[in-house]
Amino acid sequence: MPLIVQKFGGTSVADTRKILAAARRAIRAQQEGNQVVVVVSAMGHQTDHLVDLAAEITDRPSAREMDMLLSTGEQVSVALMAIAIHSLGHKAVSLTGAQIGIKTDSVFSKARIKSISTERMQNHLRDGNIVIAAGFQGIDDEFNITTLGRGGSDTTAVALAAVLGADSCEIYTDVDGVYTTDPRILPEARRVLQISYDEMLELASLGSGVMHSRSIEFAKKFHVPIHVRSSATDIPGTMIVANPEAPDMPVGGAAITKNEARVAVLDVPDKPGSSLEIFSRIAAKNISVDMIVQNVGTDGKADISFTVPCNELTTTLEVVQEAARLVGAREVTYDQNVSKISVVGLGMARQTGVADRMFRALADTGVNIQMITTSEVKISVLIEQDQSLTALRVVHRAFGLETSPPGAVASIAEVQANNGRPADAATIIARLQGLNMEDLTIEDITLDATQARVTILEVPDSPGVAAKVFEQIAAAGIFVDMIVQSYAGQENPVSLSFTVPQKKLEAALAVAQQLASELHAAGVTSSPRVAKLCVSGVGLRTHTGVAIRMFRALAEVGINVEMINTSEVRVNVVVDGAQGEVGLKSLQAAFADVLR
Ligand code: ASP
Ligand code: MG
Repeated sequence: MPLIVQKFGGTSVADTRKILAAARRAIRAQQEGNQVVVVVSAMGHQTDHLVDLAAEITDRPSAREMDMLLSTGEQVSVALMAIAIHSLGHKAVSLTGAQIGIKTDSVFSKARIKSISTERMQNHLRDGNIVIAAGFQGIDDEFNITTLGRGGSDTTAVALAAVLGADSCEIYTDVDGVYTTDPRILPEARRVLQISYDEMLELASLGSGVMHSRSIEFAKKFHVPIHVRSSATDIPGTMIVANPEAPDMPVGGAAITKNEARVAVLDVPDKPGSSLEIFSRIAAKNISVDMIVQNVGTDGKADISFTVPCNELTTTLEVVQEAARLVGAREVTYDQNVSKISVVGLGMARQTGVADRMFRALADTGVNIQMITTSEVKISVLIEQDQSLTALRVVHRAFGLETSPPGAVASIAEVQANNGRPADAATIIARLQGLNMEDLTIEDITLDATQARVTILEVPDSPGVAAKVFEQIAAAGIFVDMIVQSYAGQENPVSLSFTVPQKKLEAALAVAQQLASELHAAGVTSSPRVAKLCVSGVGLRTHTGVAIRMFRALAEVGINVEMINTSEVRVNVVVDGAQGEVGLKSLQAAFADVLR
């Protein structure tokens, strides 16, 4: 019998009338011939209310007691939901996280799921019950109640769908799907019909951050198709799947990140181990670093810039200043008045002229780009915060996102059929249940030895430069893979590096040299043969330290990192072409324990 997991968020169970409506939906699904597991959040703003109550007593409540307190919100809703189903004449059993056997680690307020037992749920389902599971909570080895972090009911729902081998996982919420950008920021945002796990992960905030990002990690790892939809209507919402059917659009969404600060370490001696020194110190403080950008050095020096959450800036600066002294860097600078604008799209991996379209839109609006980083499916730029709203609007428009809804209109059944579980799904689950379900998994470590690097040194730090460079490269029919622009200090000229296929190097150099003289840049350097090493997987965003493991593995075999690009699903580094194989072996050994 098909099994379906339905999750109702706080707004969808905000009062008893809504609980009854949700109960009817679950009953309908059962009558249509499915086994049904319902996951619920706390009613309305109940969790916030509980947080406030504790805050009335102290601003330092114990983490264990906070989890004990917050878990009660979901306990209320599961009971009411079961009562509602009974009142409508159907069978239901409510279960807490502990009763289900959702085992987590002991990190209160952000516990990770280790394993889930399915026996009890399956017995109740077999007896004809609708199983009502409390979202957001679990239990550790000492029987302490834990919670998964705010918004964590999504993760419960997808995790249950994964271990039960559900045919679908429906997330009912107060919006009707995922949007091309947060509709509260840009009213012209449009609903996306289908989107991939990777795009969702790359833009965790896509369409107002409708999903808890760990739930997408689960979905990707265990191949759970997700259907995000409104509890108020019956119209289909957004399908989040491995292989969406999309029209020929390079970009499917855009987003803005505001609460990050930029830190730049200038003139870092360009030798093995420098990045490691800096980032391992930050990781030791459990700070997650975003947007690491390192550009090829001049005169044996490189600039390394990255962003960290604003509230971690002080700690970051302390440790980075120390690291900078140790490695002999010149200076550490920072700026909180920055925003990151990103676009994602599976289509950009196949099309040329995507980056330059974004850069042109920004240039024409007078927005200066401070940093650039790219991945296979994402381009991010760092700009001045005051310009962020305008920047988002022009970028969103440049890709026509306000008019055509990304993703094809297909029937839900068809999308599900195209994104079925792999034959070995059961084996994957069994193995991961034995480990910790939310552990980092590395899916791939690859070496691309087909590329060359071009760097334009010291271009003016002003609007329009990147647009010009990549328009002309695209016009020459050259496909650019990685783009890196690191920050070099206020008003300082920046260097722009990119990789191209080796056989296009000469053509790219001709364009670059011409531009360098037009822009009064300091010159052009290149390597005819570079090696791009890439580590990709699930959990890179929430498990800090992947980049560090890479830097360590490369430093150990004496390999210098020339360029770095990070994203939520992969870390790319460029090293000397002759060292690719050695680097690959070293990375494979370093990640052997988490390679799937
Ligand atoms: N009730 C929890 C929260 O408000 C979990 C959830 O709703 O997903 O964060
Ligand atoms: Mg939510």
